[in-house]
This record gives sequence, C-alpha cells and structure tokens, in this order.
Amino acid sequence: KNLKKYFFDTGGWLSKQKNIVKAVDNVDLEIVQHETLALVGESGCGKSTLARLLINLLQPTDGEVLYKGENIFNLRAEAANQFKKQVQFIFQDPYACLNPRMKVIDIIGEPLTTHKLAVGKNKEIRVEQLMNLVGLRQEFMNRYPHQFSGGQRQRIGIARALALNPELLICDEPVSALDVSIQSQILNLLKDLQAQFGLTYFFISHNLSVVRYMADRVCVMFLGKVVELGNCEEIFEQPLHPYTSFLMNAAPVPNPKLRNRARLLLEGEVPSPMNPPPGCRFHTRCPYVQEICRVEEPKLADYGGRKCACHFSLT
Ligand code: SF4
Ligand code: MG
Repeated sequence: KNLKKYFFDTGGWLSKQKNIVKAVDNVDLEIVQHETLALVGESGCGKSTLARLLINLLQPTDGEVLYKGENIFNLRAEAANQFKKQVQFIFQDPYACLNPRMKVIDIIGEPLTTHKLAVGKNKEIRVEQLMNLVGLRQEFMNRYPHQFSGGQRQRIGIARALALNPELLICDEPVSALDVSIQSQILNLLKDLQAQFGLTYFFISHNLSVVRYMADRVCVMFLGKVVELGNCEEIFEQPLHPYTSFLMNAAPVPNPKLRNRARLLLEGEVPSPMNPPPGCRFHTRCPYVQEICRVEEPKLADYGGRKCACHFSLT
C-alpha cells in the first residue's frame, strides 16, 4: 500500500546537489492466493527493490506491506517467525547465493536448522524428500555447489525455499542466468510445484516469453511506478499503456507472419530514476505525448478490471 523506497545520494562531501532515486514510488499492488503475478519492466525500474521490500529485506521510505492483513514491518516475534516461514525468496543467480563451503544437505536443510525444526536423521529425511521434489538425486546430498550445473543449482535453491512449506515464493528472475534449454525445465518444475502445493508466485522477469508462459496476471513497472496491471492474455493481446505496447513490440515474435508488423518506436533517452521527469515519467519517450503529460502525472485508473496509468490509454 502506497509503497515507497527512495535512495538518497548526497553526491559526496563536496557536492551541494542531493539526488533522490525513487526506486519504488507509491506502488499499490495485491497478490492473490494461488496466482502467479508477474512483474515486468526494464532493468533499473525497481523490480528487485520492490521484491526485497515484500520480504522485509529492505525497509520502505513510506507505505506498508500487508501479509494477511498485518503490516510485516511491525510483526511481533512469533508472527515475524511465521512470516519468515511462509514467504520465501528464489534468487536470480543460484551460484551467488549458495555457500560454496556447504554441502547440499546443509544448504537445503539450513532453514530447518535455523527454525529448529529438524536435526540429524530427521533433517536428512526431509532433505531427501526435498531433493526428490525438485528432481535432484538424493545420493548427491554430500556434494558441494560447484559440483552441480547451473540448472541443478537453481533446483537446490528451490528445494531450500520449499523446506519450510511456504505459501508465497518471490522469484526474482529465477531463470535468466540459465541456458535457454534449461530455462523451460525450471519453469515447468515451478509450475508443477505450484499445482502440487497450492503455491503463490510473485514472479519477476524482463523476459516476456517467460512471463507469458508463467503468469496469470501481469504488472508492468516503469521507473518505480506501476503503469499497467491486468490479466496476462489481455495485456499481451491488447496493451493499454504505450510503454507496455513498446515492451511487447520489442520482444521477439515467435510467429514469423507477425514479424513485420508495425513497431512502436521510441524516441528520446531512457530517463534516469534519479530525479525522474515530471508529469508522466514515460513522456520523454512516448510517441503519443501531449502537453498534459509533461505536467500532470496520470493516475492508475480502472478499465473494467484492468489498470493503466496514462492520460491517453490505448483503449
Ligand atoms: Fe504517453 Fe502521455 Fe500516456 Fe504518458 S500519459 S504514456 S506521455 S500518452
Ligand atoms: Mg533486478
């Protein structure tokens, strides 16, 4: 609710200028149980910052994150503990987040140890179960991360995220560090696990084919703002916001018959999230820009269940 994360850059002690990076600027968003909500946007638009706010890895400048009605930044010890079990994170680069000196049994079993849920033989049994779930051979539990391929390492990351029977998984670009041939295996694994355990995914990606394959709903972000939100098929078939339309047109088109369709070309520089332009943040690049766009910020308005923030949405 009204979530903001601003970073302040003083520019060093000699500089009088203070810059503000509005990484997440007044975001309102709802994640519905059992859905996959995808968050798309170019790099630097605030996707990862938003994800980190959702699990209390970052404190917001303003606003709240409500989980089952409770603000996660004010939870008391027991509730905070529950929250940490129910909401887990899957990182982009599985190698960077796996301790190279730990055996896989200790990596996957770490959350069980931290929450004092299983030790010794019990931990081993649970880790075996988790390895089976994600398609890893349990004989490998005494190996180290470097002995696995990239895809297998992401499976290890997923197994660890599942150790505490979570409800919500925040996946930040979970396949973008992987070979294309491996990506679909991991995506299918995530889909199977979602069906099996009724999981909810907040799925961050800049890859639109991945988003189309995974998402029920799609949220499009541009420079810290949500510019469009709606049902996945509708967003892909008929984008309302010029920026969404640009993203869709910039994506490779699998159907060769469509390859020559008119492309929406963008003009102007990509504005910086530091001191973003006034009015509509997209106005320096938008082909439909009008006078009002330069001065008045468009609100996220409702269009029959879809939302779009543009003075002249493409309805
Ligand atoms: Fe383009 Fe104006 Fe819409 Fe912004 S508000 S996306 S500048 S038409
Ligand atoms: Mg990111």
